[in-house]
Amino acid sequence: ASGNLKGYAPICLGIEDFYIRRLYLRIQDCFGRPISSPPDAWFDVVERVSEDNNKTLKRTTNVSRCLNLGSYNYLGFAAADEYCTPRVIESLKKFSPSTCSPRVDAGTTALHAELEERVASFVGKPAALVTGMGYVTNSAILPVLIGKGGLIISDSLNHNSIVNGARGSGATIRVFIHNTPAHLDEVLRENIADGQPRTHRAWKKIMVIVEGIYSMEGELCKLPEIVSICKKYKAYIYLDEAHSIGAIGKTGRGVCELLGVDTSEIDIMMGTFTKSFGSCGGYIAGSEDLIRYLKYTCPAHLYATSISPPSAQQIMSAINVILGEDGSSRGAQKLARIRENSNFFRSQLKKMGFEVLGDNDSPVMPIMLYNPAKIPAFSRECLKRNLAVVTVAFPATPLLLARARICLSASHTREDMEKALEVISTVGDLIGIKYFPAEPKKP
Ligand code: PMP
Repeated sequence: ASGNLKGYAPICLGIEDFYIRRLYLRIQDCFGRPISSPPDAWFDVVERVSEDNNKTLKRTTNVSRCLNLGSYNYLGFAAADEYCTPRVIESLKKFSPSTCSPRVDAGTTALHAELEERVASFVGKPAALVTGMGYVTNSAILPVLIGKGGLIISDSLNHNSIVNGARGSGATIRVFIHNTPAHLDEVLRENIADGQPRTHRAWKKIMVIVEGIYSMEGELCKLPEIVSICKKYKAYIYLDEAHSIGAIGKTGRGVCELLGVDTSEIDIMMGTFTKSFGSCGGYIAGSEDLIRYLKYTCPAHLYATSISPPSAQQIMSAINVILGEDGSSRGAQKLARIRENSNFFRSQLKKMGFEVLGDNDSPVMPIMLYNPAKIPAFSRECLKRNLAVVTVAFPATPLLLARARICLSASHTREDMEKALEVISTVGDLIGIKYFPAEPKKP
């Protein structure tokens, strides 16, 4: 047992954290390969198989081809696309791979200006600011929005980029129990009197920070309840839609659209382009005043090179497809597909007896393993059967809440999913992670 516990930690978030904590867990890539000699050998080099919609990953060190259940390629845009790719190539020729310049110097091309308008209108806010990286959008912009004398109330499972942005802001930080509006209310009540106007209280500003879909839980934010609590206490609300924008809602407009929350109720909308849009970068969307203020003051805007033009073009082209502005119904089909795929896969896993976290419609579905020693067994046994799955454990999750995290894509076919389910079921029996009785199969 001690040998096993010395074992493994995730591919995932918080790698620096665990080094700092000097936990000698070994990390493994999504091919189950334990990696023990950082930093140069941390991750295996993978090939993506583009003629197959990037649904498959290939290790460069051997020839196995695996069905990819690990990437955040929710709408299947992280692949050659008949509409997006020619336009991206064109933008590469016209604007080059990089502006080699921050936005305020020579880094704003016509593409950048157009992109911000497109993003603002897509997410339903008056204005938007785009940066070159999602992580930086949280970690560098939060300290501009709030500082010393401010109060941040953060969901306990918010992403590391939010945690670092909040810490870097100098604001006082309180945490509320994950996705629990009643506890958020309690924390706010403890810190301010009911109904007090913003100008009359001890805090310069109060900001509640939540995510649309929680990336380790697959859960949708209880946004309507949280919005009404923020209103009651006159707190600002900051919503990170990294995993929800593009992936859920009738027209891909994220958790607000899905749960019927008017975007005017959300003060600051943040998101990334690295998931549903198959690109790079992040955005903040809000009022025109807010975005103008950020454009003049945010270091990530003033001092960092602007998003690469082909990435900007990829985002705009993906939005065109999602909204049907490419003249086809592919966007609507992709949205329907990711929803059907997610709901089918989740319900099948549950029927098999797995403990699966998250809500319907969410393409992120963690299968609970609990025991950290089951992590390498799960991913290696999947790997042997040509399935690439990301496993997640401490410090990205609590120590004894290890899990495998499946991310589905609109590119997955029913046949892909049936094959994957068969493998997961076999591996589940092998390592004993079906914690509930299976539903009998229909004859
Ligand atoms: N916010 C959340 C909730 C995330 O899950 C992530 C990364 N997966 C980020 C921000 C950072 O985004 P990016 O990977 O696009 O830099």
